[in-house]
Order: sequence, then structure tokens, then C-alpha cells
Amino acid sequence: MTFSVHGLAVARGIAIGRAVLVASSRVDVAHYFITTDQVVGEIDRLKRAKEVVFQEVQRLQLALPKDAPTELAALLDVHLMLLQDELLAEGVAHWISERLYNAEWALTSQLEVVARQFDEMEDLYLRERKADLEQVVERVLRQLKGAPTGVPQPAVRRPGSQRQQDLLLEDTEDVPLVLVAHDLSPADMLQFKQSVFAGFVTDVGGKTSHTAIVARSLDIPAVVGARNASHWVKQDDWVIIDGDAGVMIVDPSPIVLAEYGFKQRQASLERERLSRLRLTPAVTLDGQKIELLANIEMPEDAASALAAGSVGVGLFRSEFLFMGRASHLPGEEEQYQAYRRAVEGMQGLPVTIRTVDIGADKPLDRNVRETVHLNPALGLRAIRWSLADPAMFMTQLRAILRAAVHGQVNLLIPMLAHGKEIRQTLALLARARAQLDAQGVAYGPLKVGAMIEIPAAALTVPMFLSYFDFLSIGTNDLIQYTLAIDRADEQVADLYDPLHPAILHLVANTIAHGQALDKPVSVCGEMAGDPSLTRLLLGMGLRSFSMHPTQILAVKQVVLRSDTTRLKPWAEKVLASDNPAELLASV
Ligand code: PEP
Ligand code: MG
Repeated sequence: MTFSVHGLAVARGIAIGRAVLVASSRVDVAHYFITTDQVVGEIDRLKRAKEVVFQEVQRLQLALPKDAPTELAALLDVHLMLLQDELLAEGVAHWISERLYNAEWALTSQLEVVARQFDEMEDLYLRERKADLEQVVERVLRQLKGAPTGVPQPAVRRPGSQRQQDLLLEDTEDVPLVLVAHDLSPADMLQFKQSVFAGFVTDVGGKTSHTAIVARSLDIPAVVGARNASHWVKQDDWVIIDGDAGVMIVDPSPIVLAEYGFKQRQASLERERLSRLRLTPAVTLDGQKIELLANIEMPEDAASALAAGSVGVGLFRSEFLFMGRASHLPGEEEQYQAYRRAVEGMQGLPVTIRTVDIGADKPLDRNVRETVHLNPALGLRAIRWSLADPAMFMTQLRAILRAAVHGQVNLLIPMLAHGKEIRQTLALLARARAQLDAQGVAYGPLKVGAMIEIPAAALTVPMFLSYFDFLSIGTNDLIQYTLAIDRADEQVADLYDPLHPAILHLVANTIAHGQALDKPVSVCGEMAGDPSLTRLLLGMGLRSFSMHPTQILAVKQVVLRSDTTRLKPWAEKVLASDNPAELLASV
């Protein structure tokens, strides 16, 4: 039966494919595809983990004191039985051999299938055994995690034998896969970066949550905040993701499929048309040169930044080098090599490296989310985290200074609000230089800039300009903190409004102060990559935009058709209005 699930549109386009469910688990589970020659080893790995757990439970049973309640022994019996359950074992082997899922993913996928069967049982006692099954699976997952054999691989293959589909695609080897999950951390998302997935849907998340931002950088259709999507969709269901409308259609009829197939072809034609603008300089009708820069997460993204025709990197979110690591943080040499790759990758174009912005919805480790922070977005995040650990911060500063030998590097500091934070940061930068001098290690010159992403910063721009060479407006956080809404919370997503007059005033005020002192100001939040806001930002005087490489050509198209002399008075009217959205449609 066809039904649709609505969420928030985060990355444009249409994806049609079969659902791959990533079940949530209390244990941090790696999801990756194995190769066909790893199947036997993977099934074996799982068998061994189950055996270890089996022996563990047996030992527990033997060690039970004589006066232990009889239910306890019975419960352990149930666990032993479940560990030998054929349905579970066969199902898991199926996911591994047919789908080439790694053991952990196969186990959680089969848990999902069996758990649904438990849910449907009439008998209350049997229904409640689902919790036991979950516990047993969790034990096995922990065992697998402790004794991993395979290295996570990006998902790069198609399963060998697939159920034939009589839908649009006859050849199942080419059936695209669409990932459906309750939640994915930004680090998970990054792991899927080189994957085969044609689209993503998650139950939670806001439009500018970091998971959504990474999804957008993948340039594949994505919907977040789809509430119960992962509950309603089953493994293998056919789904359509409409990334423009923020909708997922499950089990579509042939007519709906044909309609979306048509839309998909239209979109690819449009992209092809836009790609012709790649080498066209971004100059407005009245001759204003506009700088279109790229936001990147990993050094390797420099290639897509160049391919999209960007004239540099305006924001390298360095925290992605720090996330999802099992143990230690990256050291100076590792960071230096990463920054150097980004700088060299940009072939002489400038690269703005932002110091680590860990915290809020970007935990260091996925499991850290289990820690209760009352208000993570207002807590020890970004520069606050860096200043709380000067040794870690200086390691990063030294690595960036050293990378500046290889090209034009700008240093960008996130989430500053206080003068004392600015002074501490600059003092640590001076100390990092002195350390390199003392060691006789070469480093290059840096322009130093601050992100304006806290209202307090946007209201004290002159102070920031007195310390920094340039400013970059982080509208994602500026909106979150000005409007007091969590950018990652889909329940308040409708209140996340870039056109709120308060936001427009803070942005315009920052640009105007920069212009007055002739210091560069750019916008690197999602507003910069939204073509429907390009004219307004141009009218406010913005001349530097940093965005996902995927957005550059669409924004360039608007730039090429704009006349800033006409946009300036119009933007002033929009700024004076209490309903800017209405006026926006009138240009
Ligand atoms: C922003 O806040 O607008 C920004 C660019 O930084 P991030 O999205 O990484 O918080
Ligand atoms: Mg930010």
C-alpha cells in the first residue's frame, strides 16, 4: 500500500530505490559493506562472538547462588535459547551473504525483523521476550565490537543475488539503495560519504543540523525530521525520496513512479545546464565581482570544491577530522598532513580552516550523546572546548600554521562572544608560533578571522574588527541562538527562520561594519548557499559567499542575473519590513 511520510527537505533531488534500514541500537554499530570473499569470514566472526556470549551466559548460570530466584535461571535459559535461535541465525546469514552487510549491521537488521514479529504476538509473555532478544543481541554486538576483524569499508558494491523487481528498474544489480535511519550522527553520515546510497531519510534532525549539512554536501536527496519513518518502512521496501518537498513515498504505484522518474530526468537536465557556468566568473550585471567559496568537511572535498568552480574554501570544518574516532584525537603531524592535503588540493586558491567546533550536535564520539548535557548547544562547544584544553588547541594551531607554508591559509575561530576569549585565542596563537620558532619548524603567514554566530558577537562587531582580519557569519548558529531554537530539533523546525527581521538586522549590521573598515565579511552558513536569498544578501552588500560545492552554480546563476544597484534600495525596504518573506517574492 502506498503511503507517504513528511519531513524536512534538506538536499534537493529525487531518489528512487530500495530501503536499507539502519536500526538504532544502544551499542554503537558500524555499518559497512563487505566484499563477497569476506562473507564466510564475517559469518564466522559472528558465530565466534555468539559462542563467547553463550559460554558467558552459561558461566553466569552456573555461578548463580543457590538462593537466587528461579526466574533468574529461567531467564538465562531464554537467553541461551535465543542465542541458538535458527530464525535469528538464518536471517543474519542472509543479510551477510545476500546483502553483504557487515556482521553488526546484519545482526541489528535481523533484530528489527524478529522484534516486529514479537510485537505482533498475542501472548503477553512471549511479546515481552522481545526485551530479552534485544539484550542478547546487545551482548553479541558488544562482543563483536571488542573483537573486530574487518575494517569499515565504504559501501561500494551491489549485492549479487537480488529479488527481481518489476518496477522501473529491471536489472536489480542497478537498483539504488536509500538509507533510512532513526538518527545518524554527522560522523556516520561522513562514513557514508563515498557510499552507493542514493538518498537518506532520518526520523530526527533539523534543516541545519550537522547531519543535514553533511547530507547536503553529498549532493543526494535527503529528508530529515521524518518522525517515525524508520518505524513504518521495512527493509527492502521501494521508496521515493523527494528531497525538494521533504517527502518519502513508500511502496509507490507505477503511476507515481513514472511521474517521479520524469522529475528525476528533468533535474539531471537542469544540472547539466548549470554545469556550463562552471568557468564563468561570478560578476553581477553592474560589474561587481562576487567571491563564491566552498564549505568542506574533509581534505578530499577540495576536489569537488574545485570541480564546482569555487575560488577557494571559505570554511573547512576541521572537527570532522576529530569525530568518530575510537580513542585518541589526531596529533599535530596527522592534522598537518590533512590541512596540507586540503591546501594543495585547492591548487593555490585560499583555504579557510576553522578550528575545531566540537559539541552540541557534533559529539566527538557517537556514544558521547548518551551523556546527559542539559543544554549542549549552550555548553562547552567550539572555541570554549578549545580554550578549555590549551594543549589540544595549540596542537591544532601549530598544524594549521605549518600547513600555511603550502598555500594561502586563513584561520577561522568559531563561536567567540567575549573579548577575553578573543585575547586568549590570539595569545595561544602567538604561543604556538613561538613554539614552532623554538623548534625551528617552518610555518606560513595566516590571516585570522572570527565567526559571527552568536548574537553577542553580531552586536559587538567593531570589537571583533579591531582584533581580526576578516569575519565570517555563521548564520546556522546565529539563527539558532538569536531565535532560541535548537537547529537539530525537528519539533521547532518551523520556527527556524533566516528571514526573521532580527536575523536580517544582525547580518546586515555585520556586513556594514566590515565595509566601513574595508575588512572582508563573508557568510558561510546555509543562507549563503540558498539561491532564494542570494539577491537579498547581495543587496545588503555581501560580496563573499561560502557554501556546499553543490550549491555554487545555482547561486552563481542568480549572481549573473543580478544588479546590485537595484538590489540595494530593495534590500533596505526588506530590512525595514516586519514581513520580509512577503517582499522577497517581489523582486
Ligand atoms: C554556522 O553556524 O552557520 C556555521 C557555518 O557553522 P556550523 O554549521 O558548522 O555550526
Ligand atoms: Mg556554527
